[in-house]
Amino acid sequence: MKSLKENFQKAHIVIIGSGIIGKFNALELSELGFKITIIDPNHFQNSSNAALGLLIGNMYQKRRGRSWDLRKQSIKLWPQWITFLQKFNDELKIEKPLIKLTTNAEKFKKLEKFIHENNDQNLRILEKDSIFINNVNKAFQTKNLKGIISFKDGRINALSLLQTLDKYLKHKNINNLRGEIIKIRKLNNQWISTTSNNEKIKSDMVILCNSLKAINLIDSLSHNIKLKPVLGQAMEIDINEGEVDLLSLPKQFSINGKNIIPKSKNKLIIGSTDEYSTKPEEDTFEKLTNFLDKKPNWLMKAKISRKWYGIRSRPDGEPSPIMKNIEDGLIICTGFYKNGILLAPACSRWVANEIKNYLY
Ligand SMILES: Cc1cc2nc3c(=O)[nH]c(=O)nc-3n(C[C@H](O)[C@H](O)[C@H](O)COP(=O)(O)OP(=O)(O)OC[C@H]3O[C@@H](n4cnc5c(N)ncnc54)[C@H](O)[C@@H]3O)c2cc1C
Repeated sequence: MKSLKENFQKAHIVIIGSGIIGKFNALELSELGFKITIIDPNHFQNSSNAALGLLIGNMYQKRRGRSWDLRKQSIKLWPQWITFLQKFNDELKIEKPLIKLTTNAEKFKKLEKFIHENNDQNLRILEKDSIFINNVNKAFQTKNLKGIISFKDGRINALSLLQTLDKYLKHKNINNLRGEIIKIRKLNNQWISTTSNNEKIKSDMVILCNSLKAINLIDSLSHNIKLKPVLGQAMEIDINEGEVDLLSLPKQFSINGKNIIPKSKNKLIIGSTDEYSTKPEEDTFEKLTNFLDKKPNWLMKAKISRKWYGIRSRPDGEPSPIMKNIEDGLIICTGFYKNGILLAPACSRWVANEIKNYLY
């Protein structure tokens, strides 16, 4: 019989969890020729479906260490994957640029220092009289917004991305199962994943992409992995016709940490909160609109047309994310906290390299 190493492309890999991390791993590993099964009890109610899709890469101020390395790799991989995925959805794209604004003088000083130190043509301080600053100041009735622009960062529509990945999985006939894995164990060089219906799926490897619940499937104490849930809320609001033209604003920007995405002349998405809880309270509007000392009238009168939330997993006691080869044939990718959409390509490339090393 051929060994697994000689036969690695026929190896069967089970991916537990079908958020952006599970789906992206399925994409990368399927392109390498592996047989993939992806399993999730609820493919549509997860943090990935709640994401705003901002890809904060070049704008990230800490330019060293693992977090920067992962961002840098993702920034490089994203355009390649977009080109590939356009075969399944020709409208998939990254909307650029990305703008970060603040009213805080100290924070602006730090942004200025960051721009001067990095000397990158794609990262600039926004001039006081730039059209972006003028339009935002006018709409939000302030005079003191300042900030930076990154021509290489932007936003991908997370829902459209997830749907495109689903199309890909279908096209490749990937086994996409609905079910919850309640136990995994290793028996004679094979992994057995047991579902809540007591079905058993055998595989050569397992990748845990099930966010907070990943620790239920491993001995988290001996692996010393701890995760905290962080609730993130977002909302779409409608404003009264004609009060302000929201399309005069940049396509995606942030003010004092809140992300803003105009959808039409009178519709706006605002996100997201950062709450150490699992249940949203009723004050979503207040929480998401308190980013300026004084709200403009149109914002005060705005009505929520849709609101949603997602629960992100944040590592406790170590940096985000957790990507570890924890046992022979068992990999964990969790704790992506605020950046799972951005980091999905870097994560799946790391996993692919680990698997190649394991099988060769
Ligand atoms: C409001 C909001 C805005 C955000 N904005 C951005 C942004 O702009 N940019 C960005 O990069 N990131 C953003 N994020 C963060 C991003 O959404 C997450 O980092 C990312 O979705 C994590 O993906 P994941 O696949 O690890 O987890 P999830 O998407 O949560 O997927 C985990 C999956 O595992 C499944 N699962 C759980 N247990 C089991 C089991 N036992 N068996 C099988 N399946 C199981 C679940 O059903 C779920 O579908 C945002 C998040 C929120 C909430």
